[in-house]
Amino acid sequence: MENCIFCKIINGEIPSTKVYEDDLVYAFNDLEPTAPLHCLIVPKKHICCANEIMEEDEALIGHIFRVAVKIAKEKGFSENGYRIVNNCGKDAGQTVFHIHFHLLAGREFGWPAG
Ligand code: AMP
Ligand code: ZN
Repeated sequence: MENCIFCKIINGEIPSTKVYEDDLVYAFNDLEPTAPLHCLIVPKKHICCANEIMEEDEALIGHIFRVAVKIAKEKGFSENGYRIVNNCGKDAGQTVFHIHFHLLAGREFGWPAG
């Protein structure tokens, strides 16, 4: 997808700090971290937001959650806990319209979300 910064990150056109990669997903550190661990897990397939997840994407989205858990475990956060966040649309604060899942850990998080 042209002019999508996350597609450009996946293609290596924009630099990023890689945390994990496989055939389906790419994970990298957030540019402006809000927790000691703050990475973004994105499918290599361009899907703009949760509204656009199709039936054929169900396994992909499940895979993303398994990757998030794997990263959290490897970084030593599985016991204390972590948060996986997806913002969909303007009111949720989505700023990049290539679906992504924030993986946040290393501090306590408040609830309800701001
Ligand atoms: P959201 O508000 O859910 O759309 O989150 C977008 C996230 O992408 C924000 O946390 C940004 O800090 C992050 N971000 C934007 N550009 C980059 C980039 N070039 N590299 C890493 N993270 C980025
Ligand atoms: Zn994209």
